[in-house]
Amino acid sequence: MIQEINSCIFCKIINKEIPADIIYEDDNFLAFLDINPQSPGHTQIIPKKHYRWVWDIPNTGEYFEIAKKIALAQRKAFNTDFILSRIVGDEVPHAHIWVFPNRDILGDKKDFEGNKNKIKSYL
Ligand SMILES: [Zn+2]
Repeated sequence: MIQEINSCIFCKIINKEIPADIIYEDDNFLAFLDINPQSPGHTQIIPKKHYRWVWDIPNTGEYFEIAKKIALAQRKAFNTDFILSRIVGDEVPHAHIWVFPNRDILGDKKDFEGNKNKIKSYL
């Protein structure tokens, strides 16, 4: 577990050792743009404490409330009702939820600064 945390890329983002385009942050959770976005505004939502899987997190209700909040902001930011979410967890061994607009929306998915500001303006 200690070994896993020391090398965990998401823990490094939480500790600000690696830069990220942060959308939302509170005491327990952090949301930031995925560096390999499926669509513009693709966001990763993670607990600040290192848990391996989403299903290990005790305050699940709070976690999903944040996911919803971000999905609603993405709806407005990208002018679509169709927001997808994905929970798998094999890419990075730190619990994460993907929330991202459908792939048909217009916009540059690599415009991280612009997409970050669009989502944040509706949070
Ligand atoms: Zn971690």
